[in-house]
Amino acid sequence: MEVTLLEATPNPEELICKGARNDYYADFVGEDDFETVMEGVDGDSIEEKQRTLIGHLMTHGHFGPFEHPNATFAVKGISRSCMAQITRHRHVSFDVQSMRYVAFDDVDPEQVGEGEFVVTPPSATDADWIGRNQKGGSVDEATIEQREELFRESVTRSVEEYQELLDLGMPPEDARFVLPIGTKVNMVMTMNVRMLMHVADMRAAADAQWEIRELTESVLDLAADWCPLTFEYYEAKMRNRKNRLAP
Ligand SMILES: Cc1cc2nc3c(=O)[nH]c(=O)nc-3n(C[C@H](O)[C@H](O)[C@H](O)COP(=O)(O)OP(=O)(O)OC[C@H]3O[C@@H](n4cnc5c(N)ncnc54)[C@H](O)[C@@H]3O)c2cc1C
Repeated sequence: MEVTLLEATPNPEELICKGARNDYYADFVGEDDFETVMEGVDGDSIEEKQRTLIGHLMTHGHFGPFEHPNATFAVKGISRSCMAQITRHRHVSFDVQSMRYVAFDDVDPEQVGEGEFVVTPPSATDADWIGRNQKGGSVDEATIEQREELFRESVTRSVEEYQELLDLGMPPEDARFVLPIGTKVNMVMTMNVRMLMHVADMRAAADAQWEIRELTESVLDLAADWCPLTFEYYEAKMRNRKNRLAP
């Protein structure tokens, strides 16, 4: 999996603060410079003032201003299963690589079992992996070898048969029905800061599946560079709180 930041609102935290200050500001934030707009907020520097205001908004559950800045992420190589999970979030906008219009006829089936075209879950190869819905602890070497072999054979066969169906003239949109749910897909997604925190609340949590957690952690790392004061506060004070449904 690879996640990159494609585009993002410049100066996102200035925008959050301008939005919030508007609510209690007698003048017009559209005319005044940022220093003037932030007068009256505690702090010796403009960064400290932003930190104060952002912390205040978060503490009081005033999340509306966090809806103004947006970020767009390009995601490479997640499973269709992970895609189904993330696309449940209705306030995120998505573009998903199409299996109707892209025919994967040049994929080498020999490489499929090596993780080329299908995501390999850690439980297929790691005897000590402990997943969320796993009945026991680690498994013995013979079992993990059997799992790995069966997994590789199964996904390789699916891709070979998909390609045979294409060769028989079946359209990609129908031939894809035989492909596994672990088939990789690329996606572009856009969300605002409030939604990013909500997705992180639900999908970076311990009860989420490993793959969507990995995706969300990557998004959070990029968000921390883009919107540092907000995600510093989120990590320190909000991430592990109870009742995570608010933002
Ligand atoms: C660990 C885990 C396991 C899951 N298992 C399953 C499963 O087995 N089956 C399954 O179907 N789903 C499952 N889900 C998906 C889950 O039920 C949600 O559909 C998904 O996480 C989207 O989140 P959301 O409901 O917060 O909505 P979002 O679309 O992210 O919306 C954000 C917030 O906006 C508000 N909102 C949006 N739309 C509405 C609306 N129509 N009415 C009222 N309020 C709204 C809500 O406050 C919501 O929390 C699982 C999620 C997790 C994290």
